Amino acid sequence: MSTPTFSDWDLDSDISEAIKGMGWEEPTQIQSESIPVARKGKDVVGQARTGSGKTAAFGIPIIESCGPNGSLQSLVLCPTRELAVQVAEEMNNLQGKKGLKIETVYGGTDIEKQAKLLDKGVDVIVGTPGRVIDMSKRGHIDLPAIRIFCLDEADRMLDMGFFPDVLWIVEKMTGRSQTLLFSATFPQEVLDATEEFTNDPVHVMSEDLEVEVPEIDQFAIKVGRLNKMWALGRIVANMSEGDQMLIFTNTKRMVDMLDERLDRQGVDSAALHGDMAQNKRERILDSFRDGKKSILVATDVAARGLDVDGITHVVNYDLPDETESYVHRIGRTGRMGRSGQAWSFVGGSEMSQLDKIANTWGMTIPMVDAPELPDGSKEMARLKEDWDEISDCFGMVTVRLSLGSGDASKLALADWIVDQARVPEVAIGEISMGDSESTVEVHVKKASYVIDVLKSRDFQGRRLQPAIVN
Ligand code: AMP
Repeated sequence: MSTPTFSDWDLDSDISEAIKGMGWEEPTQIQSESIPVARKGKDVVGQARTGSGKTAAFGIPIIESCGPNGSLQSLVLCPTRELAVQVAEEMNNLQGKKGLKIETVYGGTDIEKQAKLLDKGVDVIVGTPGRVIDMSKRGHIDLPAIRIFCLDEADRMLDMGFFPDVLWIVEKMTGRSQTLLFSATFPQEVLDATEEFTNDPVHVMSEDLEVEVPEIDQFAIKVGRLNKMWALGRIVANMSEGDQMLIFTNTKRMVDMLDERLDRQGVDSAALHGDMAQNKRERILDSFRDGKKSILVATDVAARGLDVDGITHVVNYDLPDETESYVHRIGRTGRMGRSGQAWSFVGGSEMSQLDKIANTWGMTIPMVDAPELPDGSKEMARLKEDWDEISDCFGMVTVRLSLGSGDASKLALADWIVDQARVPEVAIGEISMGDSESTVEVHVKKASYVIDVLKSRDFQGRRLQPAIVN
């Protein structure tokens, strides 16, 4: 398919003239995918970030479908005032002489002045959630009148804690017939919002994010910091002759530490990071490429551009912070149709990050146990008790106590734990009480200590028999 041009679409003449005036020659990928379907009135879920041209991807269809009649027809929600200003500016540029009133609505500005402007009549509002709610409660924004809604940078909205506000607004937009949702990443909450807000949406993606997910076996092992070496040992022990492994850590320090630990275990590994002189890096890469070294430990930066066909295993010793890094990392294996496997070590508090990675790229990454140790091999490290493996995404560990709701109140129990264990109140999470048992959430950093205290002291003359709930 050839790349469409703006003139192929027969856009509103105001818009096409504006585009010409701006000197845009052809639509970006996200625009060419999003504009035709959005113009037909369909819902769109776009994966794009700033720089992809996403503003025009939703801006052009919105401008086209609104008329300059001074009644509110469309709302674009942005996470920050800077973005709202930028989006409104771009939409104003794009509408050329069409004459729509596009107003920004964000906090920190004079409410009265803003109210007056809105009362004069607007066609499109670009705003941040808090102020939009405020103005609608004051009667200056008629949310039910809105037909087209756009949620821009949904993942940043989520990070900034705006989701309850967004939900409030969406519920009030009872006349909404089209929704355009854009986000760079798709954590579970954004996926859920996509389900809830859109109706049979068309999914579109910008070019810079269109990475090919390699067809390789992916696994994740729930393993805390203390047991990563143990898990790595199991995977290394299962490698076959001629296999090559690339291990990623998130810091240069960790690259060196892990390389040294592997060498101490008799595993001939090499380390690669950005602090090394170019000739040293080349030497290391050559030895890996020639197969003299079978294991290379590296950071993302150092591995950029690393082109070695023989890599059979990628290990995310540390899960990457960026969802894209994951795909770039695992793309190092399974080259040229060879089989490959990618393993990720995930602590209890990182499960949501793993979900976000999987959702963003539409992958399934099954949680599995570490592979069995083959006969005759020995463990690289002993398996230790690691709290990080049993904590949830908020870092809380659940402890069961033999105490029923008839025995004490939640408050009395919480106060007693805080007092006896001398931990801050925030270290104690939710308490729930059943007839004969209760559970208490304790922050992972204090868990071992709190459990020791609970074991050794009596609460109102009784033993609590604490046990961790896995
Ligand atoms: P955005 O991702 O929407 O923030 O856009 C990034 C920048 O690219 C903005 O400065 C836009 O004005 C510009 N831009 C968007 N679409 C095009 C296009 N088709 N051709 C040239 N520039 C564009």
